[in-house]
Amino acid sequence: MINPLVEMDGDEMTRVLWPIIKEKLITPFVELKTEYYDLGIVNRDNTNDQVTVDAANAIKKWGVGIKNATITPNGARVKEYNLKTQWKSPNGTIRAILDGTVFRKPILVSNIQPSVKSWKKPIIVGRHAYGDVYKSVETYACHPGKAELVFTENTGKETRVTIHEFEGTGILQAMHNTEESIQSFAHSCFRYALDQKMDVWFATKDTISKTYDQRFKIVFQRTFDKYYKQDFDLQGIQYHYTLIDDMVAKLVKSEGGFLWACKNYDGDVMSDLVASAFGSLAMMTSVLVSPHGYFEYEAAHGTVQQHYYKHLKGEKTSTNPTALIFAWTGALRKRAEIDEIHSLIDFADKLDRILIETVESGIMTGDLALLADPPAKQKLSSIEFIEELARRLSN
Ligand code: NAP
Ligand code: MG
Repeated sequence: MINPLVEMDGDEMTRVLWPIIKEKLITPFVELKTEYYDLGIVNRDNTNDQVTVDAANAIKKWGVGIKNATITPNGARVKEYNLKTQWKSPNGTIRAILDGTVFRKPILVSNIQPSVKSWKKPIIVGRHAYGDVYKSVETYACHPGKAELVFTENTGKETRVTIHEFEGTGILQAMHNTEESIQSFAHSCFRYALDQKMDVWFATKDTISKTYDQRFKIVFQRTFDKYYKQDFDLQGIQYHYTLIDDMVAKLVKSEGGFLWACKNYDGDVMSDLVASAFGSLAMMTSVLVSPHGYFEYEAAHGTVQQHYYKHLKGEKTSTNPTALIFAWTGALRKRAEIDEIHSLIDFADKLDRILIETVESGIMTGDLALLADPPAKQKLSSIEFIEELARRLSN
């Protein structure tokens, strides 16, 4: 390696697996260079969460990061780890600093069939992570009255639209987005589609929402035409816009193989639908792509808390390391592409291929054994599975 990966360690079961993956599958084959940040909850607490900010800034410096799953503390976690405060989600902090969009991509194996029979290729869901209903204000109209939307420009000029004249009680909500954020989202989607050589589909309800959703459509089209059309033509990929209801109808009839750019709420709901229809959270990778060209790879799942408590009691766990391993190969491959290290790209491809071949040969962890058809031949613990991959890699 020439330049390091920004390595961010995490918590619980995934923290247990992290060094084993490195020791068995990476460092025997790669002269690994990383800049290590400990994002485990104890160190975040000790550093008043400065370590998360430092890690995000390091990604800005080096361009590529790999992150382990981390605890986002709630009340119970504050007690469990005796925390100074309920620290914010590290992913949220990093995303805000990098201005990125998260894309989830499933890892497909032939012996686990998606619930949607026509799906043959991955469907990547990109969710706009700013605004709309997640930053809305609401009120309960407890008496009859008139509701208005008022926008006051800095110059003092007012624009007013009547929302509704209530004769009884009712509910109200106002939401917003910014042109800048929509544009960053569009850039991230088009960049990642080029990286993956996949078509992009974007859908809203612009026929009904003639100002709000229409603006998303305009910004996407404008960004595409100005910055990406040529590169898409060169790669032989396309950008399509359609209505959201048409999109979901297409989705279940398609064979997959595209990036679906979703508005915030659509992405929240649809990424869970797509993930569960593909089979398992342990087979879902996640990458944060910033419009400035930074990449951060991780598994889509969390710290697998319940497995960790079993592990602490000395029980063998069958936590599936697949998404974590794909996060490593994704980050190594991206680093290698930027630094033009062909042997490292080959290594990342080889490890991915060996992992898929192993599962397809019937050797897998317990979570997949529940889903496999034909049934699993051998059900391995996390460590046994990693050791099996290491054995195959050395051959
Ligand atoms: P989780 O860690 O994703 O696990 C939920 C359940 O999914 C597990 O109990 C397990 O089911 C199954 N599962 C997930 N990953 C698996 C794997 N690799 N192999 C096998 N089974 C797997 O979610 P959680 O337990 O709700 O959250 C735990 C912690 O993770 C929380 O503190 C949360 O804040 C954090 N979290 C972090 C991230 C992130 O850093 N990106 C994302 C989500 C959650 P069974 O128990 O049925 O085996
Ligand atoms: Mg959701």
